[in-house]
Amino acid sequence: MPKKISHIGIAVKNLDEAIQFYKKLGLEVEGIEVIESQKVKVAFIPVGNVRLELLEPTSEDSTVAKFLVKKGEGIHHLALGTENLERRLQEIEKKGIKLIDKTPRKGAHNTNIAFLHPTSSHGVLLELCEE
Ligand code: ZN
Repeated sequence: MPKKISHIGIAVKNLDEAIQFYKKLGLEVEGIEVIESQKVKVAFIPVGNVRLELLEPTSEDSTVAKFLVKKGEGIHHLALGTENLERRLQEIEKKGIKLIDKTPRKGAHNTNIAFLHPTSSHGVLLELCEE
């Protein structure tokens, strides 16, 4: 079972402006990277054992860009830290949970990630994240 919250994904229009805001709160950016497969630029901000993952789309057809158009800036997804992601996905699919990713894909920070479908998870976009 998932043992922790890995990170909270937050969609932002402008990564630099969002970073400046969190710096004013006394938080520091751990790293910034572009994830080509998801068409996002990501900044990680650790808060205790959890990270905030700020997501700025790098392309208009990015899912995060579509999210911003539909809902505006805000919390985009919640990521649960898990082990054996591939096996976990098979198990939860057998339980009738709808998946966006049936097999893991590469996330930021050398992680493997997979998204569950929000229609199964009561409106929350859940990511499983294997570190
Ligand atoms: Zn994430």
